[in-house]
Amino acid sequence: MTCRETVRLICEYLEGRLSPGVAAVVSRHIDRCPNCHLVLEAAQKTLDTYFDGHTEASKIRVA
Ligand SMILES: [Zn+2]
Repeated sequence: MTCRETVRLICEYLEGRLSPGVAAVVSRHIDRCPNCHLVLEAAQKTLDTYFDGHTEASKIRVA
């Protein structure tokens, strides 16, 4: 799998939408590719920020 293909799949990988076989290939590539590892970390942070913001908004609505 190339870096370009991996980067394209990282979002679905983080959301758990890939089939187990494809997720394993992506995971193996990320383990040995520092560039894709950085992209994964950045995407993970973006998702965390999004979900944190979502949680805050929910809290405000509940309060
Ligand atoms: Zn790569």
